[in-house]
Amino acid sequence: MKDIKILKGNIIYTEMPDTFTTLKNGYVIVEDGAVKECCEYLSKKYKNIPITDYKDKLIIPGLNDMHCHASQFKHTGLGMDKELVPWLFSHTFPEEKRFKDLKYAEQTYKNFINEIWKNGTTRSSVWGTLHKEPTELLIDLFLKSGLGAYVSKVNMDANTPEFLDEDTDSSLRETEEMIEKYLGKSQLVKPIITPRFIPTSSKELLKGLSKLSEKYSIPVQSHLSENLSEIDWVKELYPNSENYGSVYDLFGLFGQRPTLMAHCIHSDIEERTLMKKRGVFAVHCPTSNLNLGSGIMPIRKFMDEGIPVALGTDIGAGETCSMLRVMVSAIQMSKLAWMDSDKKLKFLSTSEAFYLATKGGGSFFGKVGSFEKGYEFDALIVDDSCFDMSSYPLEQRIQKFIYNGDDRNIIHRYVSGDLVKEPFPKSI
Ligand SMILES: [Zn+2]
Repeated sequence: MKDIKILKGNIIYTEMPDTFTTLKNGYVIVEDGAVKECCEYLSKKYKNIPITDYKDKLIIPGLNDMHCHASQFKHTGLGMDKELVPWLFSHTFPEEKRFKDLKYAEQTYKNFINEIWKNGTTRSSVWGTLHKEPTELLIDLFLKSGLGAYVSKVNMDANTPEFLDEDTDSSLRETEEMIEKYLGKSQLVKPIITPRFIPTSSKELLKGLSKLSEKYSIPVQSHLSENLSEIDWVKELYPNSENYGSVYDLFGLFGQRPTLMAHCIHSDIEERTLMKKRGVFAVHCPTSNLNLGSGIMPIRKFMDEGIPVALGTDIGAGETCSMLRVMVSAIQMSKLAWMDSDKKLKFLSTSEAFYLATKGGGSFFGKVGSFEKGYEFDALIVDDSCFDMSSYPLEQRIQKFIYNGDDRNIIHRYVSGDLVKEPFPKSI
């Protein structure tokens, strides 16, 4: 017996980046968690199925945050008068050290998951810390939440402060134990290989992580070409490398399995060519890039060159868990790139930013981020009545929500067809 749900409302999604697909007062038929069809009229065969009528509300795909550090949630907004590397040493590493305390980890992780749920993030790619037990707790909390996520412990065994360092063998052993514990346990929550970045990884660690990624067919996430002094550091460590990305590639961590690389602000044409060849995702985190003064990612170049692009909050360098704010920031940053390039790099349209936050990032999970047939039904129900715009076209109502809306407008969240309630209501 198939599980069929029917929802009614104003349906908006982006099949393609350049335009919103809209259906006023339409029906979305969900069968076993996936979209069967969106239609204007309901076929008689569904006459005995109850309809969840959301009336004039908007039904849009859930948002996908493809780069965030759950362990940095509490210290968002701190040290934002610094650049990346000094900030890591003065703020991030000392904060991450606190996570060996399981109680501290539990409270912070519950608050983080509540916050992303509140903001309409239905799937995310999440970093814990190097600590195994607290990161397993983070995975368990995600499993309880009903949200989708890739989650892993971070690996870092070189050039780190003594209080946040691990030896190579235990780093690899613990990662493998974690993979064996969680791989195949859930369709929604899965492990991902997570070297912090090249400068904090020994060659043995990178080799070992690549082997694990291959052995268990696990995707990879890391950072790439975020900051000029970081790039110089990589060049010092690997003087013969062509670029930063080619160092990951040397170790088999650059698209050999599905790969997310956050930032890519300063990726040159050779690095981008390799990304395209390997299908490596560039995860643009505009709020973080502004906060750390890392630079303006020329997102149009990546899109024009056919590199898969997604968006991320980069909590805690990004100050907000809201993917709405990230979309707006991405559009604003693309306008700076447009001005900087003598108007050669066309800025993002609102539908393109929405596409990146839904189907763009969602494609890393499979068929996620759209309401086309066969896509998992991840959705937000948006009550935009406070804007008094029900007579406006849906294309304008979604723009208004992106720019002026927030979590207060989101009344329900669905992941893979299931309604997801607030995960940990008493934790804040
Ligand atoms: Zn990051």
